[in-house]
Amino acid sequence: RPSPAAAPDRLPFSRITQEDLAFFRKILPGRAVTDPDLLESSNVDWLKSVKGSSELLLRPQTTEEVSQILKYCNSRNLAVNPQGGNTGLVGGSVPVYDEIILSTALMNNILTFDSISGILTCQAGCVLENLSLYLEDRDYIMPLDLGAKGSCHIGGNVSTNAGGLRLLRYGSLRGTVLGLEVVLADGRVLDCLVTLRKDNTGYDLKQLFIGSEGTLGVITSVSILCPRKPKSVNVVFLGCETFEQLLKTFQLSRGMLGEILSAFEFLDSECMRLLNTHLKLRNPISDCPFYVVIETSGSDSTHDGEKLHHFLEEAMTSSLVTDGTVATEDSKIKALWSMRERVTEALTHEGFTYKYDISLPVEQIYQLVTDMREHLGDRAKSVVGYGHVGDGNLHLNVTSPAKDPALLAAIEPFVYEWTASCNGSISAEHGLGLKKRNYIYYSKPSQAVALMGNIKAMLDPKGILNPYKTLPDDLK
Ligand code: FAD
Repeated sequence: RPSPAAAPDRLPFSRITQEDLAFFRKILPGRAVTDPDLLESSNVDWLKSVKGSSELLLRPQTTEEVSQILKYCNSRNLAVNPQGGNTGLVGGSVPVYDEIILSTALMNNILTFDSISGILTCQAGCVLENLSLYLEDRDYIMPLDLGAKGSCHIGGNVSTNAGGLRLLRYGSLRGTVLGLEVVLADGRVLDCLVTLRKDNTGYDLKQLFIGSEGTLGVITSVSILCPRKPKSVNVVFLGCETFEQLLKTFQLSRGMLGEILSAFEFLDSECMRLLNTHLKLRNPISDCPFYVVIETSGSDSTHDGEKLHHFLEEAMTSSLVTDGTVATEDSKIKALWSMRERVTEALTHEGFTYKYDISLPVEQIYQLVTDMREHLGDRAKSVVGYGHVGDGNLHLNVTSPAKDPALLAAIEPFVYEWTASCNGSISAEHGLGLKKRNYIYYSKPSQAVALMGNIKAMLDPKGILNPYKTLPDDLK
């Protein structure tokens, strides 16, 4: 029996002809790429786990060009795979067969920034880190941050509704994105690029495109509300003996750090082993079963320092944490953050990784790792857990020396049934893409999935946008 993650048969889309190529070369001179060597990296995902066979990569620079591309593809019944930085982890960013890759890489202009309101408007292909650097010079920051910041695009972030390391403090993109410009499947441009914090005039259509993974439209511009750059930032790296103590530390931090708490992340000792072995990163404290990265961001270093000091004193004297280190200067802050941010990268050196991005009531997030370890025994090379404690989001990863269908059959549906039994989500922040699409029913009722199908059929009746992704096969 094929895995539900396996690609379905190719749908009857047209194949690219010489006339099609001539059209694209005319509207995108020098930016309709057919060289197989250049296409290679756009056909493979970041994890190197999904590979398409597209023969055409289009690199538009303007909304008008995206509109012309989609209008043409829709009329010719050509399938299109929107692509940002190609850092997605669920196989949504690369073609399954020969879909045309529509990259936003050259749509990288900042359009406006209002230094009073902190509202930034930019094209979808701006790299997250570049936006962060631009804003930092102006005393602002982006409301999101993630390990893939050097490559991912803001349009990709919005399309996946990326969470990341700052969600605890600044909330989800569903709140901070104020407006979007989107090109629909038939080439129509939907201009909802407002820069207003309040706008209750009818349905909030932009929400449909946030997290829809390129299946409903191509996002071409984004306006987003950015917070002021904090004047004082502290990062602490702590060790805990048990996950229960880690949760108590979280509770304590919320109470004692209050409004300055900006991140509470964790990794287990297996993650630390991978960081040591594969990336030569040294544990900054003594060995512990669990590690925590806490960040505070505020406006007064004396006030923040005092609060942090009292919190650490309490955590140590009540034996919630066994060891720890504090960073206030930039280079040490970066070094401590990399212990958490680089776990995803360390895992890629372990062989093959089965990745799960689960949302659960926070007190249950590590139980799944423990149960999975027991369930798999020595069938897995390693079972590791890390993630965003503050958001109840666990990244559960199971590794093996190579792809192993028997191991996969032991993990799934176990992991999804476990998650559904706790009313959790089988995709907290990475989306469904190709790999998770058929598991949607574990987290969404069939009526909701059917309504999603109706919306897809209304906005993209020919189904040309990112086919085989996000929605389950039984909807087609
Ligand atoms: P891509 O990977 O190119 O595309 C992702 C999806 O969005 C695809 O379905 C694609 O078709 C669609 N898409 C892209 N651009 C557009 C557009 N303009 N219009 C319409 N659809 C579009 N994710 C988190 O949520 N939190 C994390 O903390 C996090 N950490 C990560 C760390 C590492 C090291 C890596 C490799 C990934 C991490 N991710 C994380 C996953 C990934 O980086 C995010 O999903 C990111 O938002 C994807 O952006 P991208 O530009 O790379 O999009």
